[in-house]
Amino acid sequence: MTAKLSAPRKKAGTPRDDKKLDRVVAQALQARNKRMQGYREQALKVLPWICGRCTREFSLENLHELTVHHKDHDHDHNPADGSNWELLCRYCHDNEHSREIDAVAGDTAVTVGTTDNATYKPFANLKDLLATNNKK
Ligand SMILES: [Zn+2]
Ligand SMILES: [Zn+2]
Repeated sequence: MTAKLSAPRKKAGTPRDDKKLDRVVAQALQARNKRMQGYREQALKVLPWICGRCTREFSLENLHELTVHHKDHDHDHNPADGSNWELLCRYCHDNEHSREIDAVAGDTAVTVGTTDNATYKPFANLKDLLATNNKK
């Protein structure tokens, strides 16, 4: 009975098919995560670290309080020139969304809830990147 499991045909064939599929799925998820994290880094590269509303200036020390707002509220719409991004401090970002709560209830719920908090995580990585760049 158990001999069937280790049949030579299976070994010679493509036993990695399942794993390959897993890897493809994992890569797709990673790519998506990278893309979602990437827009924050990208936005901080192309835009000045200033809140677009209260014009407060930010540095590496308090950069985590600066959030990326999507002007059209589409988090998957991330043109490289930054035309859909606006850097806002947390307070102004909250304000921005509560003002639009009637108009775009869906985006508001998502953004104020967990999405923007999640974007804080790539910041640690960004700090390292910037530190490395500065050393060069
Ligand atoms: Zn502000
Ligand atoms: Zn926003």
